[in-house]
Amino acid sequence: MARSIITALEAALGALVVTEPDAMEPFSTDESTLGRHPPDVVVRPTTPEEIRIVLRLAAEHRVPVTPRGAGTGKSGGALPVRGGVLLSTDRMQKIYEVDEANRIAVVEPGVITGTLQARVEEEGLFYPPDPASLDSCSLGGNVAENAGGPRAYRYGVTREYVLGLEVALLGGDRLVLGRRSPKGVSGYDLTALVVGSEGTLAVIDRITLRLLPRPRAAVAAVASFGELGDASRAVVEMGRSGLLPSALELLDGVCVDHIREGSAYRFPEGAKGVLLVELDGDPERLEIDLIRCAEACEASGAMDVRLATDELQRRRLWEARRMVSEALKAAHRHKSSDDIAVPVGEMHRTVAEIAQIGERHELLAAVFGHAGDGNLHVSWLCDDEDPRLAARRSARARLELVHHVLGVGGTLSGEHGIGLRMRKYMVLEHPPQELQMMRAIKKLWDPLDLLNPGKLLPEPY
Ligand SMILES: Cc1cc2nc3c(=O)[nH]c(=O)nc-3n(C[C@H](O)[C@H](O)[C@H](O)COP(=O)(O)OP(=O)(O)OC[C@H]3O[C@@H](n4cnc5c(N)ncnc54)[C@H](O)[C@@H]3O)c2cc1C
Repeated sequence: MARSIITALEAALGALVVTEPDAMEPFSTDESTLGRHPPDVVVRPTTPEEIRIVLRLAAEHRVPVTPRGAGTGKSGGALPVRGGVLLSTDRMQKIYEVDEANRIAVVEPGVITGTLQARVEEEGLFYPPDPASLDSCSLGGNVAENAGGPRAYRYGVTREYVLGLEVALLGGDRLVLGRRSPKGVSGYDLTALVVGSEGTLAVIDRITLRLLPRPRAAVAAVASFGELGDASRAVVEMGRSGLLPSALELLDGVCVDHIREGSAYRFPEGAKGVLLVELDGDPERLEIDLIRCAEACEASGAMDVRLATDELQRRRLWEARRMVSEALKAAHRHKSSDDIAVPVGEMHRTVAEIAQIGERHELLAAVFGHAGDGNLHVSWLCDDEDPRLAARRSARARLELVHHVLGVGGTLSGEHGIGLRMRKYMVLEHPPQELQMMRAIKKLWDPLDLLNPGKLLPEPY
């Protein structure tokens, strides 16, 4: 990369520009385990105007820019695979406004998701999207990935809460998209287009979010099954009964065994599948509905259903759920993850297929995820000393899984995004005309292909 852009960035932004190798090192990786990709320079702006300066200079010098939030992404979206400028929004942590009357929050992209949730709860409000990484990921990253979480089953994903965005384009122009009103159908929905665009179209510098009233109470239950497929069937059964839990999470026996020791919640022994069911709303109805959920689980073959109606038990349960990914990673030499989504009625076939794929490729398969939405996280675990062997096995397993998922009407990613990891499979999911349309959109927003190049869209452009 030309030294001249670093000189220009330093002249314009001074100490916000980082070139010292040790200080740049944390920006070379993310949570995807897709290797180390060092940028040539890191810039950590504190205002939208500074973001625009970076994007103007990058266009002038024809240098790639990779936006980054908190670097918790699992598909490699924030990895600067072509070097250039790594633009981190980690210093942009202002909550400009929590408007209680209009139920709106306006924030900078670097605000940590859990921080906003705690802040709006002080006003009796509620921001539902709850990725398991909520204590470390940023709202800018959530918008760029259209993040989900357990509560997406009832409340929907991030896109449902983004009313407006202010974004900077490559070259430095700024677009103000969307509105503050809860409803609006004026023109093409460019706000929704930017949500989930994984930093390939624009850099988000200000976000207007819709909020809800905070639910008055919540209760939870844990149902254990002798067969993982039965737990999947119970999800369909609950839907049939007209029940709409706020979260409906699945853990297979491998996951439960990995968190059992470190968790304050005591999980039942011997289960091959566990469903975590949470309901929120008016306290008067909750326990009745929880019992109906328990009955639906029993009708699908649950061996044991435990209610977690007190706050401490419920908190421990969710803390345990959030430990899964890290616990699997810590226990094995190699872990490679997928984030597929299938129609809920296909989940029992999918979990059976995953187990068989794992066996065929000598990998331990662990499955957990947002079962209410058919969104399953699959971890391919391997303890072989040779990392290349582990990578080969998980790549073969992934390809078989992709074929299965697309064959049953599912999709490559439920919430972690395409990024670097799933990019080459896009041609299997999307017909050529659709990919052509996506490429045309990319070209319109980023004609020089400098904004997060090498992500999301498969070659060739
Ligand atoms: C333990 C663990 C659990 C997780 N659980 C969940 C889960 O339940 N649900 C879920 O959806 N995800 C989950 N994730 C994945 C990850 O946390 C989310 O994808 C999150 O939205 C990423 O946010 P981030 O700030 O870390 O973004 P980063 O990883 O920094 O970036 C992600 C993408 O967003 C782009 N980007 C970031 N900021 C901007 C910006 N201001 N403008 C434009 N583009 C931008 C980047 O270029 C990149 O493509 C989990 C991750 C971990 C490690």
